Amino acid sequence: MCAVRCDTVGVLVRQACRWCNATQLSPTRALHMTQHILTTILDRVRSLPKQRPVVLFDLDGTLYDNRPRTLRILHAFAAQLPREHRKDAEVIRGLAARDLLYRLDETLSPRGVSHTVIEQAQQAWRTRFFTDAACADDVPVAGSVEFVRTCWDEGATVVYLTGRDTPGMLLGTTRTLRDDGFPMAVPRVELVMKPTFEENDTLFKQRLLDLLDALGVMIASFDNEPANCNLFHHRWPESESVFLDTQKAPGAPPLAPAVHSIPTFEIG
Ligand SMILES: [Mg+2]
Repeated sequence: MCAVRCDTVGVLVRQACRWCNATQLSPTRALHMTQHILTTILDRVRSLPKQRPVVLFDLDGTLYDNRPRTLRILHAFAAQLPREHRKDAEVIRGLAARDLLYRLDETLSPRGVSHTVIEQAQQAWRTRFFTDAACADDVPVAGSVEFVRTCWDEGATVVYLTGRDTPGMLLGTTRTLRDDGFPMAVPRVELVMKPTFEENDTLFKQRLLDLLDALGVMIASFDNEPANCNLFHHRWPESESVFLDTQKAPGAPPLAPAVHSIPTFEIG
């Protein structure tokens, strides 16, 4: 079992253990790597108080585990399926957050759920997932609140740069960030969201780079998509680009060698 969360039981334990297995790092080594990266970043923030240090965070899959959001949508969908699909409904109602892969068909198809029901589930998911109400089900990734708060306490400008869109998710996003204890509505905090749902996430982040530069000196960036991690590393090679190894889109490019990888923000 992974030392990152070795004394508790839950989704994030399994997530971290899978990470240790996948990276073939010993739990102790994985923990030390995470400690080293996060401590190095905090030390750099402390060393540059007059140069406006900036730390950038993605939300979904980085600060937040949004699988509970998907799970609630799926369970509600299954509850209203007609009797002829009761077996599919039982399978879906039996899912836990740890069972969810990136795409619904990857999760449901191997469990024998019919193609028709998968298509209906995908439609229900698309309707509800990107909404203010649904993101209240998200859970902060282990250690994320504490780390972001420490960055801010030590003088960093905290930027939440997310692929969520302002029309659909601004209200829910600000509410959950506030309720979960992340820095919000104080100086040196920026929440940057897509103006439209349709815009591509990585292209959106790419076109924001100049504006982010104006905030100060980029110290570190955190994202769960390799394409975004690589983008930030190439733009700010002196900063630390950190990949959260949680979930990523299928077909993601390989990480640039200089990008760090951590399973959570927990450092013991
Ligand atoms: Mg993300």
